[in-house]
This record gives sequence, structure tokens and C-alpha cells, in this order.
Amino acid sequence: MMLLQIDKLQSFYGRSQALFGVDFSMDEGEVVALMGRNGMGKTTTIRSLCRVLPYRDGSIRFGGSDLAGMRPHKVARLGIGLVPEGRRCFPNLSVHENLVVAARSGAWTLERVNRLFPRLKERQQQSASTLSGGEQQMLAIGRALMTNPRLLILDEATEGLAPVIRQEIWSAVRELKGEGQSILIVDKTLKELMKVADRCTILERGKSVWDGTPSALTDDIQDRYLGV
Ligand code: ATP
Repeated sequence: MMLLQIDKLQSFYGRSQALFGVDFSMDEGEVVALMGRNGMGKTTTIRSLCRVLPYRDGSIRFGGSDLAGMRPHKVARLGIGLVPEGRRCFPNLSVHENLVVAARSGAWTLERVNRLFPRLKERQQQSASTLSGGEQQMLAIGRALMTNPRLLILDEATEGLAPVIRQEIWSAVRELKGEGQSILIVDKTLKELMKVADRCTILERGKSVWDGTPSALTDDIQDRYLGV
């Protein structure tokens, strides 16, 4: 079943145009990697999808609703759980408080988040500001899951983390995929991304230029669009 459909999306920062035609779609239960070199429009696409940045042209349909003109909190309520770049959580609240304030009813509960990230369980009463970068990232993912999202968006969730913590995050992502969670993911670690993604969609200068399975992502395409 179609979960998300983005067509001819154009977005601007003031007068400066950042997206010039982004198109891709996702089915329920799919993991899609949104790719492209730095500055190509991945985060802008995510901001537009969450309606934090209003888009000017094109359309976004999510779970049958047209997002045009919708306020960001309403989009979140439709079931989009965003883990933004920079792992934002409430620094003055405890881990437990961060998780429960985000909660909406559904299959994801505090117990389940604690099972996914045992490190968080051990730190329930600690203030979020005392967590390491990796633990804060786990908390940011846990918070998004507590909203029971139909679509989880991870924007650079492993950026700047120690290798062992990255592996914990990737293993959580694989577990979520196994449970049928739909995930839109941006990450620089191509190798891990290719292991978990069902499909990849590539942006260049704010436009969609390629879409396909990880096995179709040849060295040529990587050279041309990802510069690796
Ligand atoms: P990165 O991997 O570096 O995060 P990205 O693919 O996510 O890159 P975006 O951050 O979406 O790229 O940037 C797309 C374009 O929009 C770039 O040209 C960038 O300079 C521009 N841009 C991003 N944020 C702003 C902003 N707040 N104001 C003006 N222009 C912006």
C-alpha cells in the first residue's frame, strides 16, 4: 500500500530555490534511502515533508492525505516521526520524561523502547543533558518511536558517533525494519545503508535523478551522483 508520494516538489528558503523537482514514493513497510552529495537537498526534502518548510509547488501525499497547507503539528499527528539532524531532545528533562511526553498510543511503549535501547533503560532518571552523543541519538529515536509513527525519518542518525554506537543504531534500524516499520533514511555510511534499504532515491542539485534497488546502484551511478 502506498504510504508516501512526492511529486515535482519545489521548495524555497526565502527567494532562494533549493528543490527543483523531487519525486519519489514509498510503500508501507519499505525502507527508502534518500541519497545525494552534501547540499543536494536531502534535509530540505525532509523539512518540506514535515511542513517545517512550506513548499511552493508540487505535491506531497501521505497515507491518503494531501499535506498542502497543513501545519507541522498536524503532519506529525498523521504519523510522521522525525529524528532531525542534531538529535534534539529536551536537555533538562530526564530520559524517562523525554520519552513519556512524546507518547501516543500504539504498539510502541516505554518498555519496548527500553528493550530496543537497553542503554536508555539504565539511564531513565538521568537528565538528557548528561547523556553521551550516541545515547542522545538513541533517545531521539526512542522519542520518535513513542509517537507510534507510520513513517520514521532518520536524518544522519549515525553522524559523528563512535563506531560501536553506530553499530548499535544500525542494529536497531535493522530490528525496526524486521518489524515492518516504514523508514526514510539519510546517512553517509553507504555500506550500512545498502544493507538495510529496499530502495534508494538520489537527488542532485535539488532534483530527483535516480531511483532503484541497492543492487542496481552500480559503481558508475555512485561515481556520477555520490562521488565515492
Ligand atoms: P547535507 O548532507 O550537507 O546536509 P543536504 O542534501 O541535506 O546536504 P540541504 O541541507 O537540503 O542539503 O541543502 C540544499 C540547498 O539548500 C543547499 O544549496 C543549501 O545551501 C540550501 N539551504 C539549506 N538550508 C538553508 C537555509 N536555512 N537557508 C538558505 N539556504 C539553505
